[in-house]
Amino acid sequence: MPDKSELNLTDGMRRYIDKNNRYLAERDEYIRNVVRKWKFDTIAVHGLYTVQDAIEDYQGAIIEPIFMSTAQAYRDSDEMAAALAYKIPTWCYSRIANPSTYYYEWTLALLEGYGFDGETSCCSTSSGMAAIMTAVNPFLKIQKDPHEKRNFVATVQCYGGTYQQFTARLMQEHNVECRWVLDATNLDEWASKIDEHTRFLYGELPSNPQLGFFDIRAVADLAHSHNLPLICDSTIATPALLRPICHGADIVVQSATKSLTSSGFGVCGAVIARKNLCTNIDDELLKSDFSLHIKFLQNRDFGPNLHPMQAVMTLNDMRTLRSKMDLMSRSAMKVARFLEEHPKVESVQYLGLPNHPLHELASRYMWLVDAEYDELYGRPVNRYGHLLSFCVKGGAEKARTFFDGLQRIWRATDLGRIKSVATIPGISTHQQQGEEARALAGIPANMVRLCVGAEHPDDIMADLDQALSRAG
Ligand SMILES: *Cc1c(COP(=O)(O)O)cnc(C)c1O
Repeated sequence: MPDKSELNLTDGMRRYIDKNNRYLAERDEYIRNVVRKWKFDTIAVHGLYTVQDAIEDYQGAIIEPIFMSTAQAYRDSDEMAAALAYKIPTWCYSRIANPSTYYYEWTLALLEGYGFDGETSCCSTSSGMAAIMTAVNPFLKIQKDPHEKRNFVATVQCYGGTYQQFTARLMQEHNVECRWVLDATNLDEWASKIDEHTRFLYGELPSNPQLGFFDIRAVADLAHSHNLPLICDSTIATPALLRPICHGADIVVQSATKSLTSSGFGVCGAVIARKNLCTNIDDELLKSDFSLHIKFLQNRDFGPNLHPMQAVMTLNDMRTLRSKMDLMSRSAMKVARFLEEHPKVESVQYLGLPNHPLHELASRYMWLVDAEYDELYGRPVNRYGHLLSFCVKGGAEKARTFFDGLQRIWRATDLGRIKSVATIPGISTHQQQGEEARALAGIPANMVRLCVGAEHPDDIMADLDQALSRAG
């Protein structure tokens, strides 16, 4: 466990530890024998919150209570000492843990681990950016020499905030080299950037906004052959369409702000990791249970923690994740086809379009979870998510005229909503990184990013059509 000091266990502490060990054993058995046999939707609806929990502890509340409390009280000094030494499950203080975030974390751990043979665990964070920081930071620690070289290899096609975190914060301020992979489908390029100072590989897929993609299995195998972890930002897909850990990734980061909280009620994030991950960092807990490591050490000390109110809001949205991602993906497909045919549109980037250069690769990975058990389908079906981007003919100015003409679709730097939202990445999410970096990442000035919501697709297309006609 995290503490290094020797702990003197009193008889009272031992009694608490024994009781809690029995509780943990029962919980693990319940996960193994019951929860992991459920379908995805059942896990999304219930997670680990049980009738028994509700009746015994929470006055029968059928919805997970929002624990708006800073701290947990203990029966006596023995219980407190055992808890604060992390010898028994505890939430002690809401910066470290909280019962509401506990249910949120378990649901996400189980959804990202759905179909995976091994175990997964999750640490909630206050935002997607906090999730990324939390996931990469433990691998960058100085091992021996304060001047030792450290680098990591990452896909340049990524969220603008990620680009800033890696370049402005890590490279410029902390002397950690980020080696960008320009063509993530080129395995040789990944391999050529790895050396003895590399700490991890990082990839976003599908990427926001240009819908980049890569062969997760091949990149994970490459990472593991160098004893490195692969970290994936899987925000755009959500576990309903893609679960990178099942394909060899070690860690997934989620901006749960997006499609996981499709209502748009607030900002939150999560790190989900497989147990026993691959790393060249010498630390037992980090290897065996990464999420626990960051929860009880790094995030305890840095404090990028999720509010319990937000945890339950997001949990509530996640219950219907699969059906929403199916519906919005099907609408996005229709909208992409419509845009592809439109005379005012130069090009459309959507992984579902058969002529997209990454269509075949994405089709190997992006499947609607449990479609084979869905009475509508009864077989596996590909779904490509609700994010697409397209370029308006005539350059940046025409793109802005079109954008300003939108009436039903919201103009905002947001995505993943139940409401359709559009943005121009060049003047918003990817504005800070400048022209040159945008060119590397494939973000032209006339690119519009559109995230298709749950409105009827005919109404979305009508709005796009009238706005495009203004850009004539
Ligand atoms: C939005 C986003 C992030 C950042 O998440 P926040 O919750 O806004 O901090 C990271 N990655 C991707 C792919 C995103 O779309």
